[in-house]
Amino acid sequence: MAHRVTLIPGDGIGPELAEASRRVLDASGVEIEWEVVDAGEGVMAEYGTPLPEHVLESIIRNKVALKGPITTPVGEGFRSVNVTLRQTLGLYANLRPARSMKGLDTRYEGVDLIIVRENTEDLYAGIEHRVGRDAAESIKIITREASERIARFAFEYAVANGRHTVTAVHKANIMKLSDGLFLESCRTVAAEYEGRIAFEDRIVDNMCMQLVQKPEQYDVLVLPNLYGDIVSDLAAGLVGGLGVAPGANIGPDAAVFEPVHGSAPKYAGLDRANPTALILSGALMLRHLGRPDAAERVETALRAVIAEGRTVTSDLGGSAGTTQFADAIVDRLASTTASAAARTN
Ligand code: NAD
Repeated sequence: MAHRVTLIPGDGIGPELAEASRRVLDASGVEIEWEVVDAGEGVMAEYGTPLPEHVLESIIRNKVALKGPITTPVGEGFRSVNVTLRQTLGLYANLRPARSMKGLDTRYEGVDLIIVRENTEDLYAGIEHRVGRDAAESIKIITREASERIARFAFEYAVANGRHTVTAVHKANIMKLSDGLFLESCRTVAAEYEGRIAFEDRIVDNMCMQLVQKPEQYDVLVLPNLYGDIVSDLAAGLVGGLGVAPGANIGPDAAVFEPVHGSAPKYAGLDRANPTALILSGALMLRHLGRPDAAERVETALRAVIAEGRTVTSDLGGSAGTTQFADAIVDRLASTTASAAARTN
């Protein structure tokens, strides 16, 4: 039976990356019925909002969406569509894998990190106010419910994906109440997995140093919102940067898969942007849909094209366009998908 998936191409480089990724995912052998809907500045005039109701309805109905980046106006204009989507749909877990790939010019090898970031509270709750003229206050919210929920997500991910260790990252030595509660919640959940998944914790500053010195020693990291945002970008930098960093926002009722990078407007329409991050987000989506076999095929084909280095985009040191890069992956996939189909017939 075909999987119905909402596809939001986004703007800037989004539409060309979405087209490339869709072709690659279609070549994986998984039957996907794409429901294409638009969000962002381009739909403002028609609907009076960058996130029309029918877009939300489509994701709620299909439960799964693949999304390109959407531009957020700076300082004025509408609220970030990305943040609104996460909050409205209750997408509490932000999953950001960072894995080394052969053929990429990076300082490290053998990095295979899974960053699990809490997506709903912490300093991102947006509770801020001025205190008189010369001071301002931001309130950091940490609750046991959200902390245990994200810790459980990290442990369940570890169990389901053959991982060994979960590391909780915090600053509980200074923020004894808020980060202390986050750590306590992680410890509570860790006890349920004792003997199956190891648990440890690190103070966030030390964690950053350790990741720069020996990233290959870490496995699954679970972090509150702000540290998760910062550390996941650090981790993306270890393995090749924004062009290759996939992500997923997952909640109890829906999941939205999207790259970490934004809409890079200066490359829009030039057929130059790197589709890797959106394709890898698509592979995460295939796993979520229960098709790890197809996800593996997509990742293997992508890795092979990158390792070969002949048909990659300029940010990876090549001279291919987005379309040509995707064509090379589709060609590789064609043979592995055909032999996988022959085995199941
Ligand atoms: P960006 O990620 O769009 O671009 C920064 C730089 O990274 C680009 O100039 C480019 O050099 C490089 N880059 C990014 N993606 C690339 C790709 N696929 N291939 C090749 N090079 C790539 O970050 P920004 O310039 O800060 O943001 C632009 C817009 O995107 C902003 O409006 C921002 O709000 C939005 N944004 C959206 C999302 C999202 O939709 N989830 C995420 C981040 C930023």
